[in-house]
Amino acid sequence: MNPSERSFTLSRPTPVESSVDLIVCGGGPSGCAAAIAAARLGLRVVLLEATGALGGMGTQGLVSNWYSLSDGTRILTKGLFWEILTRLHGLGGLPPDKNPADPAWQKTLYAGTGFNPEKLKLLLDRMCREAGVEVRFETRVMDIDRKGPVLQGILTHSVEGCRYLPCRAAVDATGNAVLAELCDVPCRQAGRDTEKIMPPTLCGIVTGIDYSRFHRGLLQPSVEQAIEDGFFTQPDHHVPGLFRSGKQHATQNCGHLFGMDATSTASLSAGYAKGRELAQEYTEFARQYLDGCEEAELLTTAPLVGIRESRCVQGEVQLNYDDFTSRRHFQDEIGVYNKAVDIHVYDLSQEEYDRYYREYEEMDKLGVGESYGLPYGMLVPQGMDNVWVAGRCASSDVKVNGAIRDQPACMLLGEAAGSAVALSLRNQVTNKDVNTDQLRHLLRERGAWLPDITPEGDIADAS
Ligand SMILES: Cc1cc2nc3c(=O)[nH]c(=O)nc-3n(C[C@H](O)[C@H](O)[C@H](O)COP(=O)(O)OP(=O)(O)OC[C@H]3O[C@@H](n4cnc5c(N)ncnc54)[C@H](O)[C@@H]3O)c2cc1C
Repeated sequence: MNPSERSFTLSRPTPVESSVDLIVCGGGPSGCAAAIAAARLGLRVVLLEATGALGGMGTQGLVSNWYSLSDGTRILTKGLFWEILTRLHGLGGLPPDKNPADPAWQKTLYAGTGFNPEKLKLLLDRMCREAGVEVRFETRVMDIDRKGPVLQGILTHSVEGCRYLPCRAAVDATGNAVLAELCDVPCRQAGRDTEKIMPPTLCGIVTGIDYSRFHRGLLQPSVEQAIEDGFFTQPDHHVPGLFRSGKQHATQNCGHLFGMDATSTASLSAGYAKGRELAQEYTEFARQYLDGCEEAELLTTAPLVGIRESRCVQGEVQLNYDDFTSRRHFQDEIGVYNKAVDIHVYDLSQEEYDRYYREYEEMDKLGVGESYGLPYGMLVPQGMDNVWVAGRCASSDVKVNGAIRDQPACMLLGEAAGSAVALSLRNQVTNKDVNTDQLRHLLRERGAWLPDITPEGDIADAS
């Protein structure tokens, strides 16, 4: 929708609320981690979430699968993420074959796990409440108020109307860099500043799967067979698949929405409608082609379409593909991760699938014990002194963004951002001047695995 040249100025005065220390915008994996970490460090935190539940893509997007937790020798994603995973296991929210205390699982390279999204919503509600985070559902960031590089407050919209919420700091965890864009922070926008947009998927939940007869390995040959049979309206070789997330159900992550732009309402709206068509078609495909899925039923599609790429903030540091390929570590790193670059197909061609397969399966996968660091500067947007960014929109080039967008990494980034805000306010310094030794110390105290790093960018002591 193209706005016309005309503009409209709101004439009704906006009520001003009392000031808070930190506003976290977006209650996905990164936003929840930021809010909980900061509140535990004593800040008064308000978490704004546009939908009615926490968890972002993991719950509202039904992307109910955490990918890449271990480098094959140890769990990399300790700290708050591990606490959440362990508590979710206690609530019966992990599949029966996953136990966080199992050393074999902890040493499984690319150990990933499906989870029950409803139980994760419940757990995140509880953890926010315990930490003292004030969660505001169905509340959107509308606009901002800044004085030079200092954010003064955020204009929100909810069922109560517009409100002005003053703050000392904010974290953009919206996935789409909504806050950063409003602050005029330079952002890379997929499809505007790049040639292509990685396609989204509208995920769903499929039930009625007999896992004793289901073999994930048969998915690709079945997809190829169905394409040959002319089954699909959109013959896509790249089908991420069905991911077990309970006794009989799975997250259905099938069907790319090519060219969909998450920053355009028209494109989003068309994408939801097409996504619902594709979701039905893929469940029918499962029923007809996959053993154990004969009785499969699509229970629901997600309230939020699954966005893989949209806007990405330009930060003080941008994690790039050279850092990734050299497995670089940083003396100020606030997290360690090992997910491969995962750029889904941009179109339906066999060449594009071959490109995806070559890059993801053959070129970019890290080996046992390999990892790369997440430097603090990727959380610090250019041009603002009291704003941080976490999660999918943290500063990274297109390729690396395709690696660090996974939920465990987003939680590492969020926990670090929330903790950095606490240090910044405590020491009265800007985001750029946060003492990263102190920050790393704080994160370690809370369980993070953050080894010492040599000036050359290697891990000094991997014990
Ligand atoms: C189809 C798909 C499959 C994936 N598969 C996996 C996988 O298997 N494993 C894995 O670990 N990761 C996977 N990912 C990646 C991962 O789920 C996301 O990249 C991750 O959730 C991003 O976290 P985030 O906190 O940055 O943002 P999000 O999870 O997108 O959360 C952002 C939150 O901000 C809210 N929000 C947005 N705008 C506003 C606003 N203006 N005001 C208030 N709130 C707002 C949204 O409602 C949302 O809750 C997948 C992603 C997709 C799309």
